[in-house]
Amino acid sequence: MKSPMIKTSLPGPRARKLIEKDGTYVSPSYTRYYPLVVEKARGLWVHDVDGNVFLDFTAGIAVCATGHCHPRVIKAIKAQADLLLHMSGTDFYYRTQIVLAEKLACLAPGEGGKKVYFGNSGAEAVEAAFKLARWHTQRELNLAFYGAFHGRTMGALSLTASKTIQKKHYNPLVPGITHIPYAYCYRCPYNLSYPQCGLGCVNWVEDTLFRTTIPPEEVAAIIVEPIQGEGGYIVPPPDFHLELYRIAKKYGILYVVDEVQTGMGRTGKMFAMEHFGVDPDIIALAKGIASGMPLGALTARAEIMDWEAGSHASTFGGNPVSCQAALATIELLEEGLINNAVVQGEYLMAGLREFQQSFECMGDVRGKGLMVAVEFVKDRENKKPAREWRNEVIKKAFQKGLLLLGCGENSIRFSPALTVTAAEIDECLSIFDDVVREVAV
Ligand code: PLP
Repeated sequence: MKSPMIKTSLPGPRARKLIEKDGTYVSPSYTRYYPLVVEKARGLWVHDVDGNVFLDFTAGIAVCATGHCHPRVIKAIKAQADLLLHMSGTDFYYRTQIVLAEKLACLAPGEGGKKVYFGNSGAEAVEAAFKLARWHTQRELNLAFYGAFHGRTMGALSLTASKTIQKKHYNPLVPGITHIPYAYCYRCPYNLSYPQCGLGCVNWVEDTLFRTTIPPEEVAAIIVEPIQGEGGYIVPPPDFHLELYRIAKKYGILYVVDEVQTGMGRTGKMFAMEHFGVDPDIIALAKGIASGMPLGALTARAEIMDWEAGSHASTFGGNPVSCQAALATIELLEEGLINNAVVQGEYLMAGLREFQQSFECMGDVRGKGLMVAVEFVKDRENKKPAREWRNEVIKKAFQKGLLLLGCGENSIRFSPALTVTAAEIDECLSIFDDVVREVAV
């Protein structure tokens, strides 16, 4: 297949009926950008219930790393489903869970042994990281970042500082968390420029925060995304994590990295932190790990994962079908998909950078591998966020058969499956070009 195929008005008649029923029976708390009702999908091509075909540059929010329904993932899932669906890794042992734990422990960056905890989602992985950091250090305070998204359960939500609607009416949350500015150099919170700034945002933690309000010896963890995801695909400078990590180690603080969105090859390395030369103490994983089957995982240095039996667990965590999907996913990533993320990511970014020459509204094009974003502005000089243009571009792209999602206040993310081809990127760029021309001249 070369192009999307839209044969009804959108939403089509079947989609419209289902969306109406959804309004009656389904929680209104979900955020739907546009009325897509999915029926089936293969690779990057998604069919809706009316037979319209879309090109998917969302990968189900950066989840379907190997493309929709990769035959080898499906084969692994079917074989496991014939054997066993559930027994519970909480009270019993699963062969697949142990094999996957060994694989992840070997893959996780850094010297020495690692141990792995399994849950079902990104929020659960973060929740576990948060609890483990408290358990191990027996310290009560934590640092997290403005713009961060770590999930919606109470602990993960407490670490999140993305949109107020996510917190509205849910206070009080977990105490002891201080949010600090991330290295968002396009809009530096300190009005400085890298590298002349000398990483002022990092130095501020030690020189101001730790001197005035937060006793560093009471801080359990710094919880950070290698590249901010929901916050706007914000890539920090190359030495940001190294410097922050140096400060963390000076005070015995754990460096807890949320790789839920950046992990599993998306940025062109298995773990995005490998770009920054830091070996984290704890890593939270989910999304791309099992190509769409629900799975969350936490890797930690073995000496850190010292909690006792009964201190944390989950009935469904590390489900054997999800674990088999993860093993098949990792095999595919190692066989070539991570490399494809590097090659196609550069191609995608080059195409977007070329458009940027002609479109004033494309204020910033940034990313790593296949985690790429365009930030929309009213004009380059004042950088006034053009949120409405961003939203219009996403809606119009949908009408033309291209699936995109927003991130941050005024950015669009491009997070296709790691199987994406140059021809699919050309198709995406061609639709994007048309749409941006229509929306923002
Ligand atoms: N952490 C990060 C970095 C994420 O991007 C997300 C979801 O977008 C989460 C955690 C939460 O994951 P989940 O929605 O699976 O709970």
